Order: sequence, then C-alpha cells, then structure tokens
Amino acid sequence: MVDTAPYPFEARRYPARLPALQGGHEVQRHPVVVVGGGPVGWCTALGLANFGVPVVLLEADDSVCFGSRAICISRRSLQIIQRLGALPGFLATGLPWEGGRSYWRQQEVLRFQMPHDSNQKLPPMVNLAQYSIEQILLDRAEERADLIDVRWQTRLTQLTTQEDGVELQVDTPQGAYALQADWVVACDGGRSFVRESLGLKLQGTSYEGRYVIVDILMDSARPTERLAYFDPPCNPGSTVLVHKQPGNVWRIDYQLRDGEDPDATIQPGNVAPRVQSLLDMMGETAPWQLIWTGIYKANALTLDRYRHGRVLLAGDAAHLVPIFGVRGANSGIDDADNLAWKLALVVKGQASEALLDSYSSERVAAAHENLSYGTKSTEFMAPPSFAFDLMRTAALSLAVQHPEVRSLINPRQTSAITYTQSPLNAPDDTRFNAGPVLGQVLAEVPVTACEGNTRREAFLSDLIGAHFTALHFSAQGEMPADLQDWVAAQVQRGLPVLLLRITQQAFDNQGGDGPAAWDHTGRAFPLYGAAPGTLVLLRPDGHVLGRWHQADMPAAARALQAALHPN
Ligand SMILES: Cc1cc2nc3c(=O)[nH]c(=O)nc-3n(C[C@H](O)[C@H](O)[C@H](O)COP(=O)(O)OP(=O)(O)OC[C@H]3O[C@@H](n4cnc5c(N)ncnc54)[C@H](O)[C@@H]3O)c2cc1C
Repeated sequence: MVDTAPYPFEARRYPARLPALQGGHEVQRHPVVVVGGGPVGWCTALGLANFGVPVVLLEADDSVCFGSRAICISRRSLQIIQRLGALPGFLATGLPWEGGRSYWRQQEVLRFQMPHDSNQKLPPMVNLAQYSIEQILLDRAEERADLIDVRWQTRLTQLTTQEDGVELQVDTPQGAYALQADWVVACDGGRSFVRESLGLKLQGTSYEGRYVIVDILMDSARPTERLAYFDPPCNPGSTVLVHKQPGNVWRIDYQLRDGEDPDATIQPGNVAPRVQSLLDMMGETAPWQLIWTGIYKANALTLDRYRHGRVLLAGDAAHLVPIFGVRGANSGIDDADNLAWKLALVVKGQASEALLDSYSSERVAAAHENLSYGTKSTEFMAPPSFAFDLMRTAALSLAVQHPEVRSLINPRQTSAITYTQSPLNAPDDTRFNAGPVLGQVLAEVPVTACEGNTRREAFLSDLIGAHFTALHFSAQGEMPADLQDWVAAQVQRGLPVLLLRITQQAFDNQGGDGPAAWDHTGRAFPLYGAAPGTLVLLRPDGHVLGRWHQADMPAAARALQAALHPN
C-alpha cells in the first residue's frame, strides 16, 4: 500500500462574473485583453498596470494551476518580479540556491555554482512551486484591481482579428458574450487557442524521451541544490533529478527507460519502489508520502513571429522550451517584461506600432538561444539516440578523471539574454572597455540611495522602475544642463524617463535634482566602464539602449526617438 497525501496547497476558487452587456456584447471596449492567467499572463497584466494601462485578464479556470510544473525561478525573473511589486512573496516562500552536483553511477562528476557575488541582491535561483508563483502574482494583481480586471471561468472560444483591434467571444458558466479589444496578448499556454485560431504552427523538435515527474512530502535537512544522477545504481540506465521545494516537498524527475509504458509507470504502485530505492541510495531514512505523479515530454519549438497584427503571443503560447535548464516560465516572464512597456507606450500613443515588432524579433532571438541550450541539455538528460547515449557515457566516464570535460555535463541553467542584434540599440561608443554592452541587462551593484536628505543602503536594481533610466556618472552629482533639460522635456510630454545620478563621492542630495546613488563600494564605475560624465540609457526592462562615455545629448535624444519610432 503506497502512502499518499493530498496536494499541500489549497487553491482559492474564484467565481465567474459578467460585465455590463448589451445584446450579448460588452458595452466597454478595452485597450488590452490578456488571455490566460499563468505566470506569463499575470506578469504581462502587472507590467501594463505599472504604466497605468488598464487590462482585462481572461482565465478559463477558477483558480491558479494545480500539480507540479515550474519550480525554479531565476535571478533575472526575480528582478522583473521586483519591478512588478511581487518580490517579497517570492523571497518569503521560495528556497534560494546557488549550485548543484551530478553523479555518474556512484561517483560525483560535477559540482557547479551559478554566477553569484557580493554585488548581487538576489540569489541565482529560488525554488517555488508554480501554484505559489501564480498565487503571489495574483495577490499582487488584486492589489492593482484599479487597473487589472480578472475574469475567472471565462474561456476564449472565438477570436476575430480586425485592422484596428480584435473581437473575442468568451464562454462562462453564466453565459457567453463578446468583447472588443484594441490589442490582445495571448498567454494561453502550450495548447494556445489563440495560436490555433490564427492558424500558426510551432516549429522545431519534439523529443520522444519521457520523464516521470514525482512530488513527495519528506522531512529532510538536505540543503537546496540541484542533484542529478546519471545511470544510478537505484535506477540503472535512467537519469534522475532531485530538487527541494518549500514545505518539505521534494521533486523527483526520472527518465523512462526504453519500452516502459508511461501510463503504467506513473501508477503509485510502480512509482513508490523507484522513489524508495532512490531515497535509500541517497541515505534518506525519513518517512515519505507520495503527493503527485505526472509525465513530461520535452519539446523545443517556437513560432517564427510573436506579433500578428493586433495579437501578440507570449510564453508557452509562443514557444515551448525543454524543462532542463529551467527556461520555460523564466523565458515567458522575460517575454512579458519585454512586451509590457512597449505595448503600454503604443497604447498611450507615445510610440509607434513598429516598436512591437522589436518585441517579436528580440524575443524570437531569445527563444532560439534558449532552445539551443535547452536542446543540448535535453540531449544530455534524455539521449534521443544510441549515438547521443554513447557520447554521454563517454563524457561522464571521462569527467571522473578529467575535470576539463566537466563543462560538457554542466546543466546550462537559464541566464539573462543580451539583445545583441536589437533594432533598438543605439550606435555603440567604442571608448568603453567594460560594462554591460548594448542590449544587455543592467549590472547589479550595491549603492547608497540618496533621496532628499535621506540615505539608505540599496542596490541599483531597487532604483530602476517602470521608466527609461538615464544613469549619469559623476564625481559628486554635477550634471550637464542639457541632460537635465532633455529629461525634463520627456517627462513634460508624458514619457516615463528618470534621471539617476551615480556619484563617486558621498554628497548631500538636497538640491531637488531627483534621486542619486552613491557608489560607496567603488564598484559601479569600473563595472560600467564609466568615468565622470558617462551616460547609460536603460530601457524600462533594464536592458541598455545606448551608452556614451561622455554624455552626448543629441545622440541620446536620437537614440530614444529611434527606439520609440523604429523604421
Ligand atoms: C513538469 C514541468 C516542469 C517545469 N519546470 C520549470 C522550471 O523549473 N522553470 C521554468 O521556468 N519552467 C518550467 N516549466 C515550464 C512552465 O511550467 C511553463 O513554461 C509555464 O507554465 C508557461 O507559462 P504560461 O503562462 O505561458 O502558460 P500556462 O502556465 O500554461 O498558463 C496558461 C493559462 O491560460 C489559460 N487558458 C488556456 N486556454 C484558455 C482560453 N481559451 N481562455 C482563457 N484562458 C485560457 C490556462 O487555464 C492557464 O491558466 C515546467 C513545466 C513542466 C510541465
């Protein structure tokens, strides 16, 4: 008899609600409708709300997701989530970790650390079950109820695209109705109804290898790290991954061997002995209970464009990335962050529609990068052919004696993408010998935030909100008058631009010239390759739009204008 326990998460249920209707049509037309309340839908809605854009979010279910899905959220995603105002929940519940170990048979063949140093505010990764991820984002969306109108149990059933908008037909337990939107963001997951309706097909590779996904409840003092066992004595020929989640939940993924029947393998009676022999091998003696089993099959697929007129696709609706390397939800959260500011500025009439094409080109390039890593990891975790299996065995056996081979086993965990080829990047200034390059995300560094007469310990990312940021480096807060005038003119015309001074010396920020950050560790200047007079212009998603070793205001103004109105 297998000891099982109910899933340790009691999802809140939300009722359906009808808006004001006239003849089966919603009276009000909406600037943006987001379809789907998964991680990507919530981040998109919160991102738009950050810019003051009202959003209707349609969700077919009556609660957040159920069961075991994403569990690893990257530092880059946490930085985005911080800007969305939901970071405290992630840090309070999630388990931070920095590395892991891989074993071949009984030998340790790799110990890896993800990039981490004292400049970082956030851990490289936190483990958190997807239902918690969604609940924390939903709680934040409820705080933004002034702008985010969530419609539960509201399933999109028909989509008609028009030149200047989209008509959506939805079904609810209280009846069907139609609504109109200027823009639709499809975040409706891997089986996207929107993608189907537009007749779009994902391209790429679907792998045959399958993994059994198991969650168990077990009290163990083991640290949080990623454990990978290749061909372990407890499950010869298979690959097994082990992750710790909050609440004493342990996630175990193991590869199905050739010829095994997936339906039979996930029966509790078949799962339990495999789990027990793994725990025996790991030396875990505490009692445990089975709480979830499922099957996973890796796909490495993407659309070739994420913008189709007034419809934009994001997250799993746009691409499916193998779970090895944890790029699924993480890349979708990055999509949402890239899209939200662009769509907000277009909705508000501050940017041309062509800006949205850069969402597509930047994020399709990101998907290709994610897929290339995800594909390599999948081929290692679940070799698709005898030849791959042979190569893997060779790499693992050599890694025992030869440390230089160990990079082949590295799980290539997700990391921030650089938009090297972005059409938005300004011409580069070749005088820089360091620093985040064009298209790269800001470099994190501790600073002392000086606002008025208050000073507080902070990190640079704490000072980057829903706006473009002009980072001006100086000795003690001095600024060129044309920079101040230019920022003031942008703000005057309603464009969110913040001037943030980074200073070498402590200074008294009483002059009313806006916020400043004292580089009290002396690390920010070298990290950005900056000297007094340097200007770095960041996009609202924190990527570098342009940089000038000595501020060149006409060039910076041209860069912003070109980004808002690309050809
Ligand atoms: C076993 C497993 C492990 C994973 N591990 C990781 C990991 O560690 N890290 C990681 O980054 N990713 C991981 N992933 C991937 C991650 O779960 C997905 O990439 C992520 O859920 C995608 O989010 P999404 O919002 O795009 O789609 P979804 O989460 O699928 O959300 C789509 C939403 O749209 C709703 N919807 C669908 N159709 C309609 C409709 N017609 N009308 C209205 N609503 C609709 C659905 O109800 C759902 O709520 C894992 C996935 C699996 C299966």
